[in-house]
Amino acid sequence: MNLVLFGPPGAGKGTQSQLLVEKYKMIHVSTGELLRAAIKNKTPLGLEAKKFVDAGNLVPDSLMIGLIKEVMEKKKGGLLLDGFPRTTAQAEALDELLTKEGTPLKKAVFLEVPKELLKSRLTGRRICTKCGTTFHVELHPPTLNRICDNCGGELEHRADDQPEVIENRLEVYEKNTAPLKEYYRETNNRFVPVDGVGDPQDVFSRLKKVLEI
Ligand code: AMP
Repeated sequence: MNLVLFGPPGAGKGTQSQLLVEKYKMIHVSTGELLRAAIKNKTPLGLEAKKFVDAGNLVPDSLMIGLIKEVMEKKKGGLLLDGFPRTTAQAEALDELLTKEGTPLKKAVFLEVPKELLKSRLTGRRICTKCGTTFHVELHPPTLNRICDNCGGELEHRADDQPEVIENRLEVYEKNTAPLKEYYRETNNRFVPVDGVGDPQDVFSRLKKVLEI
């Protein structure tokens, strides 16, 4: 089964993806992580994407659709798409690709979290540079300051998790990504909302329930 996990920045897509992957061995595809790796390695994609990511804007659809096509050619199996699609054009391209492969998308899960909570989640978020585990300075602090409990890696405050950039990411989300709720409702009723507030394990239980897994 292929699955789309979408929602505003800070909704918990990464955290829930980690839980889904651990339990169901799905193939996790985070376009945000792929872009951050490309930027770090200064690949042609990374060099083009950097200015958009740093400012909290969306990387153009043509680049993103090209990236997802490449991923799908390499990875076969149940894909868990985290952070893709983020625009209607991306959603349409994904539908076309998956339908062509004979594995049309059946569900798009939307993690619902109120805006004020998103802001505090993002400002306090710290991410392990080695394994990607997410912490929060108040809600889920690491045992040792700036060190990952999971692998001992160093924790970082993402450049796009700074207050000015967060505001822009939330606006960009409202304008470009929120309309996907309507898109998935209108196309085969695939929109599946899940309450994303609360302990990650509680959110995960709700998620499993709606996915019937
Ligand atoms: P994320 O890690 O999902 O929060 O993504 C971080 C950043 O990567 C976003 O703010 C965008 O700049 C970029 N990005 C990730 N996925 C996409 C996408 N599907 N379309 C456009 N830009 C994206």
